[in-house]
Amino acid sequence: MPAAEENQPPQGKPCATCCPACGKANQCAMALGKSPASCWCMTVSLHPALCAGLKVQFPVEACLCEDCLKTRTLTASP
Ligand SMILES: [Zn+2]
Repeated sequence: MPAAEENQPPQGKPCATCCPACGKANQCAMALGKSPASCWCMTVSLHPALCAGLKVQFPVEACLCEDCLKTRTLTASP
């Protein structure tokens, strides 16, 4: 039985539906072809400075998954 690598994006090829931090599905509505307004990220308030930091840390089109984003949001909070 092969290793469970089916969910891993190929090296060097960013996956729009995969979290760049953990590689799991980010459930991004836009990446799934749905309305951006229906995305879970619309319920998350992200500090502009944190958002800028994430773009530097993950210079890809893909969104982070909810778990990773919330983890970072909590970590960045005072
Ligand atoms: Zn993640």
